[in-house]
Amino acid sequence: MSYRPPRQPPKPPNRAPLEPSERGDARLQAALAQARAADTYAAAATCEACTRERAASGDPEALCEDHLAVALGMRGGWAR
Ligand SMILES: [Zn+2]
Repeated sequence: MSYRPPRQPPKPPNRAPLEPSERGDARLQAALAQARAADTYAAAATCEACTRERAASGDPEALCEDHLAVALGMRGGWAR
């Protein structure tokens, strides 16, 4: 009986350690924030207060206080 070493799986290519911003949790956070922002801006498009805010500030992406809070993750159904 001859011993044969187990076949080694191919080594993954050497990669530099991930930047904190590239780690999974950070990417997930970013994706969530992006989804939250997209959702918020969609809601803000039909929000009267947001419309007023945009007109008043001249910023086409301005948000009313409520939607700003939601977009920043401080309020709303995205919190948990
Ligand atoms: Zn709003």
